[in-house]
Amino acid sequence: MASTILKADNLKKHFHTSRGIVRAADGVSFAINKRETLGLVGESGSGKSTVAYTIIGIYRATSGDLVFKDQDITKESNKRPKALKQDIQIVFQDPGSSLNPRRSIRQIMELPLLVHNIVPRNEREDKIVDLLRMVELPADYMYKHPLAIGGGERQMVAIARALATNPSFIVLDEPTSALDVSVQAKIINLLMGLQNELDLTFLFITHDLSLMRNMATRVAIMYLGKICEIASTREFFSNPLHPYTKMLLSSIPVVSVEEEKLKPDKIVSTGEIPSPVNIPPGCSFHQRCPERMEICSRLDPFTVTPEPDHQVRCLLYPGASGVPLPKIQGGV
Ligand code: SF4
Repeated sequence: MASTILKADNLKKHFHTSRGIVRAADGVSFAINKRETLGLVGESGSGKSTVAYTIIGIYRATSGDLVFKDQDITKESNKRPKALKQDIQIVFQDPGSSLNPRRSIRQIMELPLLVHNIVPRNEREDKIVDLLRMVELPADYMYKHPLAIGGGERQMVAIARALATNPSFIVLDEPTSALDVSVQAKIINLLMGLQNELDLTFLFITHDLSLMRNMATRVAIMYLGKICEIASTREFFSNPLHPYTKMLLSSIPVVSVEEEKLKPDKIVSTGEIPSPVNIPPGCSFHQRCPERMEICSRLDPFTVTPEPDHQVRCLLYPGASGVPLPKIQGGV
C-alpha cells in the first residue's frame, strides 16, 4: 500500500493587506504518497505558489494541518528541526535569480553541504562532481559562474543544489516555465530519471496542464485558493469533472488521436479570475462557469468523491451541496 509522505488538511494561508484579506490558500486538502508526483495546477493568483511556500516554510500557515512524515510543518522553516529542512527542498522558477551570480557554481553547491554538514571538507569537491554528474553537467562547470552558462544549465545547477542535502521531497515551483520548449523537455526527463534513481517525491507547481500528462502521478487543480478537482492522472485526463478543468483541458494542445478524442470541446472562458481580496460568494468560479446554476452564486460546494481516487468541488455532483467534507486518506 502507498505510504503518505505529506498531508495538507484544510490548510489556510491568509494575508492581511491594505486592500483587505487575501485568502491565498483557503482550505486546501491533499495527500502525496512516497515516490509520486502531484501536479498542482492553476492560473496566476490561484494560490498554488502560496501552498508551495507554506510547505517549505517561507510562510507560516494561518490554520489547518500540514504534516510531513508524521511531523507538524505548519511553522516557518527557521523554527523547524534541521533534519526536516534538509529533507524538504525547492527548485524555483527562475534560476537566474535563485543562484547568486557573484559566486561560482562550486561555491553555490558548497553552501548546503557546509550548512547541513553533509560530507567532510575533504570530500566536498567529489560530492559536487557527483551532484553535477547527476544533472548531466561536466565536472568543470563548478568553476563557472551562473551568468556564463545557459538558462537550462542554470536550472540543472539549481536542481543539483536541491539534491545536495539528500532530500526525499522536492517542491518544483514552475521549474521549466522560464525555459525554451526544447530545454523544458530535457529538464522534465532529467527530473523523472532522478525521481526513479533517488526515490524522490515531487510537488510540481505549474500553470501548464499539458506538462502533467506524462510527469504527474496525480493532478490537482487550484482556483482562487481552493482545490476544485484532484484525481489520478489517467482518470483526470480521461474523465474530467469540474467545469473549470474542462475549460483548461479544452485549450491545451494534444499530440495523438486518442488524446484528441478525450479532449473536451473548446470552452471559452467568460471573464477573468476575480481578485483574491474580493472572492465572490457561493462557488468562486460561478461568474466564469458555462454550467452555472442559480444555486451556484449562493452555495459554496463541498468536496465529494464521485469516483475512486477522484474528488471534485462542484454542485453538479451529488452531495456537494451539504455532505460534510470526506476524510482524507492516503492517495487523495
Ligand atoms: Fe459551475 Fe456551479 Fe459547479 Fe461552480 S458549482 S463549477 S458554478 S456548476
